[in-house]
Amino acid sequence: MNTEIQDKTGAGKPSNFIKNIIDEDIKNGKNDGRVHTRFPPEPNGYLHIGHAKSICLNFGLAADYNGLANLRFDDTNPVKEEDEYVKSIIEDVKWLGFDWQDRLYFASDYFDKMYEYAVELINKGLAYVEDLNAEEIREYRGSLKNPGKESPSRGRSIAENLDLFKRMRDGEFPDGAKVLRAKIDMASPNMNMRDPVMYRILHASHHRTSDKWPIYPMYDWAHGLEDSIEGITHSICTLEFEDHRPLYNWFLANLDGAHHPQQIEFARLNLSYTVMSKRKLLQLVIERFVSGWDDPRMPTLAGMRRRGIPPAAIRDFCDRIGVAKADSMVDRAMLDSCVREDLNKNARRVMVVLDPVKVIITNYPEGKVENLTAENNPEDENAGSRMVPFSREIFIEREDFLEEAPKKFFRMVPGREVRLKHAYYVKCTDFVKDKNGEITEIHCEYDPATKGGWSDDGRKVKGTLHWVSAQHAVDVEVRLYDHLFTKENPDDARDTADFKEYLNPESLITLPNCKAEPGLRESTPGDSFQFLRKGYFCSDLKDFTAEKPVFNRIVAMRDTWKKLDQK
Ligand code: ATP
Ligand code: MG
Repeated sequence: MNTEIQDKTGAGKPSNFIKNIIDEDIKNGKNDGRVHTRFPPEPNGYLHIGHAKSICLNFGLAADYNGLANLRFDDTNPVKEEDEYVKSIIEDVKWLGFDWQDRLYFASDYFDKMYEYAVELINKGLAYVEDLNAEEIREYRGSLKNPGKESPSRGRSIAENLDLFKRMRDGEFPDGAKVLRAKIDMASPNMNMRDPVMYRILHASHHRTSDKWPIYPMYDWAHGLEDSIEGITHSICTLEFEDHRPLYNWFLANLDGAHHPQQIEFARLNLSYTVMSKRKLLQLVIERFVSGWDDPRMPTLAGMRRRGIPPAAIRDFCDRIGVAKADSMVDRAMLDSCVREDLNKNARRVMVVLDPVKVIITNYPEGKVENLTAENNPEDENAGSRMVPFSREIFIEREDFLEEAPKKFFRMVPGREVRLKHAYYVKCTDFVKDKNGEITEIHCEYDPATKGGWSDDGRKVKGTLHWVSAQHAVDVEVRLYDHLFTKENPDDARDTADFKEYLNPESLITLPNCKAEPGLRESTPGDSFQFLRKGYFCSDLKDFTAEKPVFNRIVAMRDTWKKLDQK
């Protein structure tokens, strides 16, 4: 038993059923106390937040037990797989903060070895070449109530099977003409054990092996071999593979000397107000309901990165949701709260007016400009401060002024004093309306004795507003994002409507005429900020330029959906 490794077990982190299994394995000296996991994406789409759960789990366990984790592409289906996806997955796992060192693998690198293993099973009388077509195979397989029927091909001699399998590999037969099947049990109560298909004929070019192979291994056959070849100790997958475990074990148990990892299933992550299936996400991209896989509304990691969500917040979220054996739906609000917590600590505060209305400070000298000190982050004493210009004409939010206001409205109201953040107390003396009754201009007077936004005479000024000096303001575009779907579970299998019916028409609102403090022009794409009182925003990775700054709302200051629910 390797006590050194055991001592590292989950140091300080909460346990879960997988850790309990690993602890037990280590205690029993299984795998010489090694822990080796893998994250095995199929490169047929971009990674999403569900994958993040699996990545954090696999890489997290390796770290907790001083073990190793591989990144392995499960690229056994040439038709849907592409290099673009491989690149994006590599980028996303890195972005999330994990390192596979030199252990980047491709299942397709094992195709020769897998072929040899298949020949071994044929030689043992445990696999045969099938002539029935896909539909006949399905028919013969029976149902949960009825046992399957044995196929006429099942009785083939080993020699004949070897010959036919080789000819399959040599490309002699057209697509679908034959398959290789495992010879297990056509009466098994587990449908997966009724002579599952191991290889199919597919004359398709593969993104890595090109036209070398006219046959491709099926997932169940390939996956255990990939794990075995890499010396994986704990093969962690989602619950839908529970019924496949006996097959995973059967294959490995019947191959001489093959290392035999343990498959462990956990519940996949479902997140409210979105869909998680790659097929559906692809549909949204292709049918242009979103601007791409990295649209900031997508639950993809590329989308979340562009939205401005910090990778640490995703890791924190994955830690908090934990791992369990029962499927459940996690509230998006929980992810948002992890995001807020991170950004509250790390994001610089700035002032941006999203819906500007002009304020003229009538007793402030014309032409005068003061540079006022503004702290960058009250939560971080190392964040320092910056200078913000103040002048006679400023912008505030239209919603921060009311001509007649209820008592609890602590913003700008005629005759009442209000604080301009970092600047002065001002009092509204007048306002101008256009013919539609819309406020076009507000007049105020400021108190020069309140510089910095405070006074020591005990005056009570409750409201504090953000503002931007009109002549110094930078015009920016702000994109407000909301849930992509209006329904908590747009993917509900009991629902007959198409999931796209529940797309939220207000998931993106573009505000083209916002006014930002001048420093924001210099921000680097991807920088995140707290726009005071308005939420957390980041400069868009693709569209931000100094000439036309574009910001994405990462998350609002508070969860507005919750409030709606409580009404
Ligand atoms: P699809 O979306 O087509 O069902 P997939 O999500 O299973 O495919 P893979 O590329 O096979 O895509 O997934 C890689 C790994 O991520 C697998 O181990 C899978 O179990 C895990 N995974 C996928 N979705 C989730 C999820 N929602 N929660 C947790 N783990 C997931
Ligand atoms: Mg899968």
